[in-house]
Amino acid sequence: MKSVAIIGAGPAGLMAAEVLSQKGAQVDVYDSMPSVGRKFLMAGKSGLNLTHSEPFEQFAARYGSRRKWIEPMLKEFGANELRTWAQELGIETFVGTSGRVFPVSMKASPLLRAWLKRLQNNGVTIHTRHRWIGWDDDKSLRFETVAGEKSIKADAVIMALGGGSWRRLGSDGAWVDWLEQAGIKVEALKSSNCGFDVAWSSHFKEKYQGHPLKSVVLSFEEFRQQGEFVITKHGVEGSLIYACSAVVRDAIEAHGITNIQLDLAPHLTRENVLTKLSKPRGSKTMASHLEKTVGIKGVKAGLLREFLSKDEFGDNERLAKAIKNLSVPLVAPRPVDEAISSAGGVMFEEVDEHLMLKKIPGVFCAGEMLDWEAPTGGYLLTACFASGRVAGRGALKWLGS
Ligand SMILES: Cc1cc2nc3c(=O)[nH]c(=O)nc-3n(C[C@H](O)[C@H](O)[C@H](O)COP(=O)(O)OP(=O)(O)OC[C@H]3O[C@@H](n4cnc5c(N)ncnc54)[C@H](O)[C@@H]3O)c2cc1C
Repeated sequence: MKSVAIIGAGPAGLMAAEVLSQKGAQVDVYDSMPSVGRKFLMAGKSGLNLTHSEPFEQFAARYGSRRKWIEPMLKEFGANELRTWAQELGIETFVGTSGRVFPVSMKASPLLRAWLKRLQNNGVTIHTRHRWIGWDDDKSLRFETVAGEKSIKADAVIMALGGGSWRRLGSDGAWVDWLEQAGIKVEALKSSNCGFDVAWSSHFKEKYQGHPLKSVVLSFEEFRQQGEFVITKHGVEGSLIYACSAVVRDAIEAHGITNIQLDLAPHLTRENVLTKLSKPRGSKTMASHLEKTVGIKGVKAGLLREFLSKDEFGDNERLAKAIKNLSVPLVAPRPVDEAISSAGGVMFEEVDEHLMLKKIPGVFCAGEMLDWEAPTGGYLLTACFASGRVAGRGALKWLGS
């Protein structure tokens, strides 16, 4: 029987294990952590967004410049196939109001439990606390284990080591060095779906950290979306920020500090805002006038004070302009360890259509460790599952030949 070593027991590695074990390969999965799928389980903490129900064309466009590589994989295993697969594991899914797809329980643990049981029934062996640390001179895989270092040889290898975010869940990006030493080109891992630093004044930071900004429209270059985000002690975080984080990150990398524009009153036109602000203020403070006339208070009012001079704040024209188009300077992306996911990874020109490394035949790569990124919305997991399948099938083909 042909043997396959899969390194990394996240969604991508486990999917490759499923494909291979169904066809009778001897599959051993190695993971550095004491238990498997930790990031997948974490993803389920705030509601496991498995995939998205939007039309394929829109879905595929979420992968931006990497679409040409991801799209063929999604054609084999996209949102519908993923939902059917989950259903076969006994996990019903539903489409939320935003079009995002979740398991009915919202959690990842029932799915992972059912999946591991299926893999075990297929004969897959999982070895936890096995940290891959590179290759021996004879090309066997080196692992650090509790019993010391081990060398392992297999007929095919699938690397599904994840990206570089949330290292405490296992994927620490240490593999980058070992693959580079083997001559594989790797794009540096960068924060994706991340927050940004803002140089808040200490007064603003103390008063508003943890406060959500709701129903604002964020614009940046072509990006324009309504949503919400949170003020943090470092800057800004949250779904609306994550949605534009790739373009903002790249702009900061290219030009330094970059401004996003906020519309704090999307339900009003600038003329409406000005008309309302121009009503007689009487003895009211400017803060209470702002709240009474345009409904701006709390953190939104705080933001205006943070970025406008006293004169600007007292001038209706300039205040109305700022309410509709406030520039907020973002200084730097938060570190990759804090990001939801990472961009960068093994470059696609290093792998063939089966995700096999051209320079190391018999070794395949899958999941977030490949050089692609996507926004939140279920696109990350879908591409991890899909690439795990492609790598698994590729390894089967390789073993057959
Ligand atoms: C808080 C949070 C919430 C998220 N929510 C969602 C969501 O709702 N929807 C969505 O689509 N995506 C979500 N994601 C992203 C998604 O979880 C990841 O993209 C996905 O888990 C990546 O899968 P993977 O198999 O490529 O890697 P991982 O899941 O990271 O698995 C890689 C595995 O490799 C192991 N490993 C790493 N290095 C070694 C080594 N040297 N030796 C041995 N083992 C090693 C790790 O321990 C890990 O188990 C979320 C991420 C986070 C952090």
